[in-house]
Amino acid sequence: MLTRRCAACLSAILCMVLVAGCGGAEPVAVQGEEPPVPTAAVQVESTTTTTTAAVQVEPTSTTAAVQVEPTSTTAAVQVEPTPTTTSASATTTVIQTEPTTTTVVVPAAEPAEEDHGPWMVNTSGRVAAVIHDDAPIRVNVQSVEVVEIDGQRYQRVVATGMPDYVHVVTGSDEAFLLGRPRPGNDFTSGGPSVVAGDVLQFGSDLGYRSTGCSRTEGTGYGFWPPGPACPTRQARTLDLPLEPVEAATPVATGLGSIGLWVNGTAIFGWGDGQSWQGQRVWSNLAPAAEAYDMDLCPGHSAMGNYHHHSHPVCLADQLGDAGTAHSTIYGFAMDGVAIAGPWVADGVLARSSWKVRDYEDPGSSTGCGSPGERTCLLVDQLDAANGTVPTDAIGPRTDAVVQSQSGNSFVARAGWFMEDWFFDGSLDNGSPEALDEHNGHLGPLPGIAEPTYHYHTTRRTGPDGVLVDAFPYVVGPTYNGEVSATGMAPGGGPGEGGPGDGGPTDLAAVAEALGVTFDALRQALGPPPPDIDAAAAALGVDPEDLRRLMGSPGRP
Ligand SMILES: [Zn+2]
Ligand SMILES: [Zn+2]
Repeated sequence: MLTRRCAACLSAILCMVLVAGCGGAEPVAVQGEEPPVPTAAVQVESTTTTTTAAVQVEPTSTTAAVQVEPTSTTAAVQVEPTPTTTSASATTTVIQTEPTTTTVVVPAAEPAEEDHGPWMVNTSGRVAAVIHDDAPIRVNVQSVEVVEIDGQRYQRVVATGMPDYVHVVTGSDEAFLLGRPRPGNDFTSGGPSVVAGDVLQFGSDLGYRSTGCSRTEGTGYGFWPPGPACPTRQARTLDLPLEPVEAATPVATGLGSIGLWVNGTAIFGWGDGQSWQGQRVWSNLAPAAEAYDMDLCPGHSAMGNYHHHSHPVCLADQLGDAGTAHSTIYGFAMDGVAIAGPWVADGVLARSSWKVRDYEDPGSSTGCGSPGERTCLLVDQLDAANGTVPTDAIGPRTDAVVQSQSGNSFVARAGWFMEDWFFDGSLDNGSPEALDEHNGHLGPLPGIAEPTYHYHTTRRTGPDGVLVDAFPYVVGPTYNGEVSATGMAPGGGPGEGGPGDGGPTDLAAVAEALGVTFDALRQALGPPPPDIDAAAAALGVDPEDLRRLMGSPGRP
């Protein structure tokens, strides 16, 4: 956990922080709610060979000026005469600094000795500040190389799945924490232990009553609300097609990992494997149904596998994506297609072409005749002109209160379920912000000369001007490109790369059959191989049912 003093330093330099100085981090740019600043990481230059440095900025030095340009430049940062910072990280070195101005090199991205593309490759041996197991865990991506398999070229990415986030608690974060409906359940002391402006490192305690890693040193706790497991080291090797091929028949993104963010953490799709009353119709949207089950980034883990279902705010901070130009690459989907952040130009958001059905107007072609009723399904969600068909699997009314698996209540307004959405082809009109049914488009991408097909994380301006996530969030419901079998290997499930990690669709079916969430099931199963009896006990189900549903032992 960073100090308040560093919180002050953050605001002092307009959120371009010397994160290295605050927590033994390699240079990371953090952006808060202040005016946009160009992307850059700040690195202290020194005459020694040290690459990471701890510099504590005087809390009252609010005049420190940082000049940032897209390319390498210098910045003046006023530092405290006597360095007193200490850090838990073994890689951190405290540098004696004169009480005068220090020259700081500001690279636009990771150190550029080697070209890793957009990947956040850990070249400094940097380890997670809070979480470790029997050894420190190196954060971000460990290596990226090009491999050729059966004549196809892939990016082979090796990662621990451990992010390196430093998050400044915003005013809306604070409001969200204070506004949680079940504070007595969610916090160990009835409320959060942080306020706006506090700086959190990934896994540090903000007061949540975390499940599974409660008060255990090294696991990270208090960063996650009750329910999700705590993140653990992943042994991830993933091959992503280097030259994406458009699919003849697009396949659904499905559950489980659908790609990798550039920091090596998993991308999950829209779903959480849960549906209204287990009918496999009226499927939950994870960012909505699990809104109270995510950390502030927002993310959480399943079986220790940390992932984001929607726009990763903390990663955006690290990448310095302030919405002043087309977003940079945030990750790659399993079809090898790049995923950009939410912006297509200065202040212009990419626009999802998915719209919510109108259940209220009795004459609406997407509703079911009677206002508020979910008694019909669209024949084709990709073409609403085909009309609706009645369903026996009736969903809750749009004014009904439904309860999430974590026990939080929501009004099931239109848009709550995946079946509430349809692709409106008229929105996919070729304008720069328009996206197709996969949430992608052909267009310019920073760092790439040719117009390139890519996805966007999608957000929209909600009430009070706050940005909120917009379905389908990242990719989907289908991939644009071919997802190769190689891309899904080694190790089983798409993107997981861990041994024994079986098909996530099967797991979803098991979860539904048991009446538990996908994430709860994965969490209960733990790292492979699964302990069926322990998992059954954790889930409150019959071990024999679980064993039967899981099939052969060792294959979750
Ligand atoms: Zn774009
Ligand atoms: Zn999830």
